[in-house]
Amino acid sequence: MSVPRPDWMLDLAREAEGGSPSQLLDQAIAIATESARRGHGPFGAIVADAGGAIVAAGHNRVIADRDSTMHAEIHAIRAAEHELASHDLGAGEPLTMYASCEPCVMCFGAIYWSGLQRIAAAAPAEAAEALGFEEGPVTAAMWATAREDKGLVRTEGVEPTRDPHQPFAVYREGNGEIY
Ligand SMILES: [Zn+2]
Repeated sequence: MSVPRPDWMLDLAREAEGGSPSQLLDQAIAIATESARRGHGPFGAIVADAGGAIVAAGHNRVIADRDSTMHAEIHAIRAAEHELASHDLGAGEPLTMYASCEPCVMCFGAIYWSGLQRIAAAAPAEAAEALGFEEGPVTAAMWATAREDKGLVRTEGVEPTRDPHQPFAVYREGNGEIY
């Protein structure tokens, strides 16, 4: 399956190539903001290794692709697996997902199966929910199980310098569809 990889998204991701976790998180927010500006959903994600080498990026394409599963995290996972020619992102060096917002229940499940070892998220789920997006039931117990079963760790203390609410503000200004 081919995975869409728009130039604007790759250009934004490359700005954080080799960068710190905070810079990578900033660029996930930048992708989310540009995604909203372009009429897509206000979410972005980057998959990178421990040295900040970028494997793939994703943004929310639900409406454009008429695909309810095309959230930023899933887009990034598909692109990363395509790039590495593997269905298991845990097969090589540990990889981290930098997401503009906490994952919804579907993306949590996809991350769980992907082999990703770490996730850093910028905006809290409440920020998406405040706009009307549904995140579904992701509980602390689910995170604890993912850590135990898959070694999936939420990165603590990685803070973006960009405002993680900016993508939502841009989306709201554009009267974007809520789904
Ligand atoms: Zn999602």
